[in-house]
Amino acid sequence: MKYDVTVIGSGPGGYVSAIRCAQLGMKVAVVEKYNTLGGTCLNVGCIPSKALLDSSHHYHDAEHTFKEHGIEIAKPKINFEQMIARKGEVVKQNVEGVAYLMKKNKIDVFTGHGSFVDKNTIKVAGEKEETISTDKVIIATGSKPSTLPFIEIDKKRVITSTEALVLKEIPKHLIIIGGGVIGLELGSVYARLGSQVSVVEYFDKIIPTMDSTMSRELTKSLKKLGMKFYTKHKVTEVKGTAKTVTVKADTPKGEVLELKGDYCLVSVGRRAYTDGLGLENIGITTDKAGRIETDAHLKTSVDNIYAIGDVVKGAMLAHKAEEEGVMVAEQLAGQKPHIDYNLIPGVVYTWPEVAGVGKTEEQLKESGMDYKVGSFPYKALGRARASMDTDGLVKVLADKNTDEILGIHIIGARAADMIAAGVTAMEFRASAEDVSRMSHAHPTYMEAVKEACLAASDAGAIHM
Ligand SMILES: Cc1cc2nc3c(=O)[nH]c(=O)nc-3n(C[C@H](O)[C@H](O)[C@H](O)COP(=O)(O)OP(=O)(O)OC[C@H]3O[C@@H](n4cnc5c(N)ncnc54)[C@H](O)[C@@H]3O)c2cc1C
Repeated sequence: MKYDVTVIGSGPGGYVSAIRCAQLGMKVAVVEKYNTLGGTCLNVGCIPSKALLDSSHHYHDAEHTFKEHGIEIAKPKINFEQMIARKGEVVKQNVEGVAYLMKKNKIDVFTGHGSFVDKNTIKVAGEKEETISTDKVIIATGSKPSTLPFIEIDKKRVITSTEALVLKEIPKHLIIIGGGVIGLELGSVYARLGSQVSVVEYFDKIIPTMDSTMSRELTKSLKKLGMKFYTKHKVTEVKGTAKTVTVKADTPKGEVLELKGDYCLVSVGRRAYTDGLGLENIGITTDKAGRIETDAHLKTSVDNIYAIGDVVKGAMLAHKAEEEGVMVAEQLAGQKPHIDYNLIPGVVYTWPEVAGVGKTEEQLKESGMDYKVGSFPYKALGRARASMDTDGLVKVLADKNTDEILGIHIIGARAADMIAAGVTAMEFRASAEDVSRMSHAHPTYMEAVKEACLAASDAGAIHM
């Protein structure tokens, strides 16, 4: 059989694209080298990390906030094996859900490593070797953890996020190289469970790509959790033995910091994954970072081949991969879809959560644009006092002349869910005053967004 479209990779980019193609009437094949569908996100990324974040959050609350809520229980004990097993079950339900969606949409799944024979032929090396004949191809092969040239990931003591999700024990001292999203989320999990957690970061702040206020506030909150930060430190050596790990780093003063722990999580970013894809057979090249080059429509240098998600430039986020998957499918069906990359939100699922969309204050400063800032703290919210989640704030950046919202940055309880309202407002090019005049249910965390918009406009916040 000849397929209209073959998607290589079944992560959120690939499987969503496959579904949209099928919905639009195309005959679709998906090639996935692992036995379960869903890619990094469902198997070793977004979903398992959130499952452990939720479990560790419950434990932390039981230990630290129940008493104040008037709930007295015996000292809670961690059954780590069960925590990891529950996470495994959550992953299973999700990957099975994707398999169901493939069947429902009559998409054929080929299990095995896919590679290009030529621009219309894909070889699948699985239990048996199969060949797919196809009109169009969407490359959605995602990414893998990257490391530093001198670090050997032994997967026992010196680990990546993948191993950190299946540890057999809670580390006594977890050293994390990299203060980005993945390092901080997994660091939070283990800090809540009682590990000593040290984060070594090359830049002068954690989550360096997000708005600086978010970085500052998150540092404060995570320090309260007991996490230690070594910013402006350049890691020079990582050595693992059977039971320990030693990390050396140059300090800003030119001295050497030596940390000893039992695990070292290397979370210095991810690299686009195209290994063994046979790109050389069709003349597709990659950029310096190993990403497949495409035009604005995500078409590669070969006319019938597209690439989406982590394997192309842009934020390595599941929802960005999904949007791109839908965009390519709709283009193939003759539609004219569009993605506004400025409005892809970024989220950190620590507690408090951090979420942002649009421009950061640093970006606005750099662009020389006239802007104004409105912010509102969680501690002034009735809802936050009720739930004991008073850490955090909402920061709204708006055009000084037109009042159009240019960026919304939230650190606080449920920021991850709240940012969708920010995206909606900005998609409709709302002004700060527009949002401040909309009724927000009371008491909710969202009232902080309304108040921050009031603070940005001439009216001023009511509850400050
Ligand atoms: C610990 C962690 C937590 C994360 N949390 C979040 C989060 O909360 N929110 C968020 O938005 N993002 C999160 N991410 C990032 C997110 O997982 C990725 O951005 C997303 O999975 C990218 O989707 P993708 O479809 O491009 O690629 P992937 O999900 O990486 O999928 C690519 C798939 O292609 C397959 N493949 C590769 N090569 C071949 C081949 N030659 N033949 C056949 N199959 C192949 C791979 O096996 C894989 O299944 C997290 C990542 C990690 C590691």
